[in-house]
Amino acid sequence: YFISFEGIDGAGKSTHLDAFRALLQERFPHQEVILTREPGGTALGEKLRSLLLDSPMNIETEALLMFAARREHIAQVIEPALSSGKIVISDRFTDASFAYQGGGRGLSLNKLNALESWVQTMPNGQLLQPNLTILFDLPGSIAESRRSQVRTPDKFEKMDLSFFEKVRQEYLRRAQLDPQRFYLIDATQTKEHIWNLLKAIEINPA
Ligand code: C5P
Repeated sequence: YFISFEGIDGAGKSTHLDAFRALLQERFPHQEVILTREPGGTALGEKLRSLLLDSPMNIETEALLMFAARREHIAQVIEPALSSGKIVISDRFTDASFAYQGGGRGLSLNKLNALESWVQTMPNGQLLQPNLTILFDLPGSIAESRRSQVRTPDKFEKMDLSFFEKVRQEYLRRAQLDPQRFYLIDATQTKEHIWNLLKAIEINPA
């Protein structure tokens, strides 16, 4: 069973990841629950992450490196874990590419769809996708003020408000297209309230 956490920078997804993993581990003691992240998740993926976060580059290059890291992540971590019955929680997955490289930076949907199918088509012909995507939704302006209180920005976090609004709108568009997969969280709520929502999500790993 595959779960992804998504949202713009500052929406608060990282705040709950460890506790959410522990919660699922308690609930499903016979299945290992692993936490991983994108870009990253493997030794090579983490190197690509550093390049992506630090170096200016062309948007196509950025998308290709994101998907290269993802391919490695799937091959080394996600697919083997799912095959052996583990529950995988990933801090971001492909929706982030549609939102950031697509919505934010303007890479075409066609190119993103092509990369997604190239990288995520499994040997059985099916597209690997999360069973559940938890989207932390927050207006760009609130996310910006939250970010400024907690950390020094990476390359992407230095983008302006209109960038994050476009990223947010693309996340929301994708959530509307696939309401079965997405669980939308209003991230303007308090941490306590959000944690209660997370605890109430029904998860049925096979
Ligand atoms: O999730 P996290 O904040 O660790 O992501 C690191 C940075 O990479 C973020 O600033 C995020 O905006 C950016 N990112 C991106 N495109 C992706 C995934 C992450 O621009 N597909």
